[in-house]
Amino acid sequence: MKRTGGSRLPRRISERVDSIKPSGIRRFFDLVMGRPDVISLGVGEPDFPVPWRIREQMIYSLERGITSYTSNHGIPELREEIVRYYRKFGVKAGVDNVIVTTGVSEGIDLALRAIINPGDGVLIPEPAYVSYKPLTVLAGGEAISVPTTPEFKPSYELLSKHSKDYDLKAIVLNYPNNPTGVSYKRKELEEIADFVVERDLIVISDEIYAELSYSGKHVSIASLNGMEDRTIILNGFSKAFAMTGFRVGYVIAPDDLVEAMLKIHQYCMLCAPITAQIGAIEALRGCEEELERIRAEYMRRRNFFVKRLEGMFEIRKPEGAFYAFPKIEGYGLSSEEFAERLLMEKGVAVVPGNAFGECGEGYIRCAYAVSMEKLKEAVDRMEEFVRKL
Ligand code: PLP
Repeated sequence: MKRTGGSRLPRRISERVDSIKPSGIRRFFDLVMGRPDVISLGVGEPDFPVPWRIREQMIYSLERGITSYTSNHGIPELREEIVRYYRKFGVKAGVDNVIVTTGVSEGIDLALRAIINPGDGVLIPEPAYVSYKPLTVLAGGEAISVPTTPEFKPSYELLSKHSKDYDLKAIVLNYPNNPTGVSYKRKELEEIADFVVERDLIVISDEIYAELSYSGKHVSIASLNGMEDRTIILNGFSKAFAMTGFRVGYVIAPDDLVEAMLKIHQYCMLCAPITAQIGAIEALRGCEEELERIRAEYMRRRNFFVKRLEGMFEIRKPEGAFYAFPKIEGYGLSSEEFAERLLMEKGVAVVPGNAFGECGEGYIRCAYAVSMEKLKEAVDRMEEFVRKL
């Protein structure tokens, strides 16, 4: 039979997919590819190798030919380690409350798809990580941007004010935060929890940077009184253990939510890669010292970088993760213009703040997960750039 050219379908792409924009981070990532002269402070990719003892366990498992599927839930030993690990944050979940996922990225998708009915409102305090909004839309929900305080924190007042007209289902929190580096103290989380209980919401708590907290210990909102039953915790191994390419993370959630998420996970993913899960067990069992060293190194870079940025921009000292979010507004360029010119004229890649929501306009995100040497060179180039503006 002769094939005819073109499609007879009126629209090949779904309206939902059509309605979302490609990630603003990826665009800059693509611009940098193939330009070795560029110093990239663009992507949140740790520059440390995965700790050797983790790699060693993974290599050893491959030598023994361990390459199969695992249970949909994940390897039982890993789930036990995750439960034990979260006890240190005061979370009392059991092994059955854990699903090992292919990165936190999958966890976000599972959480949203498991709870959203068409049109349900999901509050997203901004600036926020790039995937929350599009994944909410893909799940059929309504993503509601909520501005944060000048310190980039959600407050009871702002949450109430910006959610009045909506039928709400959930709120997505991320602390320490990408892109601002801000984290929330217990008291601030209690204020958010009051709002959550009042509006009977589910919290999706993305804690991927918990280990990279520089001002005091990370507090999980799930550890607050009455909150464990309404919180889906998301965490993973990409950032603290530099395991970005291994694609392994996890969710911890109440029974009914885990059951719902598992249904999606078993059909769309089956299980996280077994080699990565084996590495993750080792990460939680034996990397305390290594983590201490990594954390101290990021802190050293943060202190150096932020001090130099303070000479050029208004900036809040990040309390965690590996991002600085300086205000570039005073230079008369939009975030995109600033980032594009800095890249073209000085070969330094950063991400425009508006990639993280409208209220990120007037800012840029700089990831300081590069060597001190590169960081020094990048900040020198930035200084030359702003001096000429
Ligand atoms: N959540 C946040 C806040 C992130 O910054 C990132 C990656 O940059 C992710 C999730 C994705 O993590 P994963 O590599 O575990 O999918």
